[in-house]
Amino acid sequence: MLDYLILTVVALCFVVLVGIYAKNPKFPFRRFPPEDPQTPTLETLTERLNTAHAITKVLLTTARGIVIVTDQSLGVVHLSQQAATFFEVPSHEHFKTTLIEIVRDHRIHSQAESALLTKKPTYMELEYVNGASVLSVECLPITIDNNEIYGIAVAIEDLTELKHLETVRQEFLNNVSHEIRTPLASIKAMAETLASDSISDRSEQHDFLNRITNEVDHLTALIGEFRMLSNVESGSLPVTTRKVTLGSLVASTINRLQSYADTKNLKIIYEEESADLFVEIDPIRFQQILANLLENAIKFTEPTGSITITTNVTGNIANVSVVDTGIGIGSEHVTRIFERLYKVDSSRNSRGSGLGLAIAKHLVQTQGGHISVESRLGHGSAFQFSLPLL
Ligand code: ADP
Repeated sequence: MLDYLILTVVALCFVVLVGIYAKNPKFPFRRFPPEDPQTPTLETLTERLNTAHAITKVLLTTARGIVIVTDQSLGVVHLSQQAATFFEVPSHEHFKTTLIEIVRDHRIHSQAESALLTKKPTYMELEYVNGASVLSVECLPITIDNNEIYGIAVAIEDLTELKHLETVRQEFLNNVSHEIRTPLASIKAMAETLASDSISDRSEQHDFLNRITNEVDHLTALIGEFRMLSNVESGSLPVTTRKVTLGSLVASTINRLQSYADTKNLKIIYEEESADLFVEIDPIRFQQILANLLENAIKFTEPTGSITITTNVTGNIANVSVVDTGIGIGSEHVTRIFERLYKVDSSRNSRGSGLGLAIAKHLVQTQGGHISVESRLGHGSAFQFSLPLL
């Protein structure tokens, strides 16, 4: 029995020793701990590298930015989906390419080189492809355990839209102050003249007072339009549809502006396709949009010209066009006239606020529609909008 017990204990010790040896072949020739835990084996290093690769790959597939990871010779190791799209690289082709082949810009390349050299992040903003885009480029050195450089992560942000918005915002503020400052300056000048008693003639005094009233009316209208635009933009303007005919809506809008057209001896023609068709539409918003376009057409058409309004319904979409034989719009302005307060230079001093088309655009868009313009300087303009019918 004792023999059996001793045999079992010896066998158990043997099994334990074999187990320890399998884990640490140097046992018992080295003292525990067998290795410095700071010095990973080749196996753990490969494992870590594979894990890092897998994590990077997943991160870059889901990353929403433009990211390129290179090795220390600036060969591309990983590329985010957005980077492949931005630089037009087919996703299977980025292996074995270099950074310069992907970005095709020596400034980004030399920035990455300098980050490699200094082991410090670099940042710059640059205009890419002759100013077509504005990019912010950050090159971050990737170092491994012993501060040895592995490569570079190039993180790029496309700032084009942001820069454009910044410019639009700046111009908007300039235009707002211009629109408000000009009438205020003339109100002040006229009020001071009246106060100085330098005008004794009653009719001239009346004329000054009328002009002050006009300027105040203009400012009031401007503020009204700002409120209107702000309501449409914030979506707080209700859209209430009703069954009406397009013909009746167009006719009543023409009616409202007919006397203005008459002062310039302009002919308004209405081509009534689908005019009698009943449609489910918000009549107030429809007339606001059309009146804006028609008023502009009258304002920017020389006397004896003509304006043609056409309506038709295709499927469940109502299409309206307002075509004039007026002064037209230069191609450099056409893309901007729907911006808030944007006015073509030649009409900058006109009484318009530059808000009409921005309001029209938002009114169309809140109803799920689309508005556009085609124009040739000196030949006239064609505005077109379409609204989905319920
Ligand atoms: P405004 O109150 O100045 O008319 P809009 O936003 O309605 O403001 O129009 C913006 C600018 O677009 C106008 O100042 C004008 O320069 C240009 N524009 C609009 N409609 C026409 C048109 N039918 N013909 C020529 N220019 C136009």
